[in-house]
Amino acid sequence: MRRVMTVGSVALCFRRTQLGLESQKILDMYNPSVSGGNASTAAGSRLFLYEVQGLRQNAEADKSSTPIRKSGSVFITVPYTRMNQEMQRIARLGGKIVSIQPIEAVGTASNAVPTPITAPVAAPAEAVAPAQTAPTTTKKKPMTQAAAKAASSVPVNLYKPNSPYIGKVLSNEPLVQEGGSGDVQHITFDLSEGNLHYVEGQSIGIIPAGTDDKGKPHKLRLYSIASTRHGDRLDDKTVSLCVRQLEYKHPESGETVYGTCSTYLCNIEPGDDVKITGPVGKEMLLPDDPEATIIMLATGTGIAPFRAYLWRMFMEAERQANPDYQFKGLAWLIFGVPYTPNVLYKEEFEQIGEQYPENFKLTYAISREQENAEGGRMYIQHRVAEHADELWDLMQKPNTHTYMCGLKGMEDGIDEGMAVAASKHGVDWVEFRKQMKKAHRWHVETY
Ligand SMILES: Cc1cc2nc3c(=O)[nH]c(=O)nc-3n(C[C@H](O)[C@H](O)[C@H](O)COP(=O)(O)OP(=O)(O)OC[C@H]3O[C@@H](n4cnc5c(N)ncnc54)[C@H](O)[C@@H]3O)c2cc1C
Repeated sequence: MRRVMTVGSVALCFRRTQLGLESQKILDMYNPSVSGGNASTAAGSRLFLYEVQGLRQNAEADKSSTPIRKSGSVFITVPYTRMNQEMQRIARLGGKIVSIQPIEAVGTASNAVPTPITAPVAAPAEAVAPAQTAPTTTKKKPMTQAAAKAASSVPVNLYKPNSPYIGKVLSNEPLVQEGGSGDVQHITFDLSEGNLHYVEGQSIGIIPAGTDDKGKPHKLRLYSIASTRHGDRLDDKTVSLCVRQLEYKHPESGETVYGTCSTYLCNIEPGDDVKITGPVGKEMLLPDDPEATIIMLATGTGIAPFRAYLWRMFMEAERQANPDYQFKGLAWLIFGVPYTPNVLYKEEFEQIGEQYPENFKLTYAISREQENAEGGRMYIQHRVAEHADELWDLMQKPNTHTYMCGLKGMEDGIDEGMAVAASKHGVDWVEFRKQMKKAHRWHVETY
């Protein structure tokens, strides 16, 4: 049985009195009075059709842990401005979104499905207004998979700072080999006791033990997750981080200062309890398309999300665990570090390179050991400049996503290199980058 439900703007065209009781209850759950008020903007008038399965049907059912109806799909039309809200609501009601399509891709809501419900809800005025400005035949704007995913099954803030998840440390291993600089640790936490789950590209918050110099509890710090959703042990019960101990000379006193949270994390021991919040972040999500081109630009611990991607793409056990995601596109990692012993996860990456030479390209920029074309240190931007024409060509494909993660400030150098390549085609790089960003194909997380 297929049903159509409409939230917010298009609800106007229906009448509550024509609804069956069961459908009315469902629609009541989608009462547009909770809708955002800005659906009258151009973006807000875009509509998407969610196909949902397993939705519970009333408030009582909502409290149960078992969805009442497991078969059949419900179709919900959702204005762009309410996508996140609806996602969360559907998740709360036990529903699973099996697809999201821009409404024009499937036709209007009424011709998309054979048995539409043609009757809901007297919508309140503020939700009604957008309906008049939001025709069901909106402009064609394809939704990228990354955007669809961002709006769909991505868990956010399952644990908040006032009631964090307490995760036990399972392991805390050094990542920098002898001769490298600094201290970077790969730390794995046990998640088996609660409901903390995440997807690749998200971050978690860590609240260090103790208090700050005002006697108040420390604030949380964010760390990119370095493991896939299945965790390093592939049992869906762990999360791993890649943490560098912050260490710098105080600009006035010259004393060595160590960062609070990074020092705390680098020194924790197996068995210790750690306060974890989140997960957060939708900027660095990996598209579902197994044929995509994924360009990854990392410096230092910015490698964390890319390790998760590369595991998901290439690790044998991961590929077995994810039959719907058998990566066969191109992944290109350009990784900047100071010394060879600072190449984090080096063995893992090189092994992937040997196993998948057609699908994985690995380029290092080792600043203190390699020279750039001008005889200076080889930073990531120099590697990008060297390969800018090839990168530019790849970026012309609509399923190429470029990700950047690591040190704040790395963007500028990369812009410089890419601007040269773009100008050869008479294109303004910054404008092109903005277009990629709009299309959810340009992803930056620097800190
Ligand atoms: C989305 C996101 C993801 C992140 N992911 C990671 C990750 O995967 N791995 C990782 O290691 N970190 C990551 N970080 C950084 C992390 O959140 C912390 O900022 C970092 O660990 C430092 O925290 P701390 O408590 O150790 O330092 P703090 O005690 O908070 O000290 C930091 C402060 O020290 C001062 N400071 C720092 N450097 C200098 C300097 N050179 N000179 C003078 N003053 C200075 C600044 O005032 C700075 O605010 C991420 C940050 C974000 C926002």
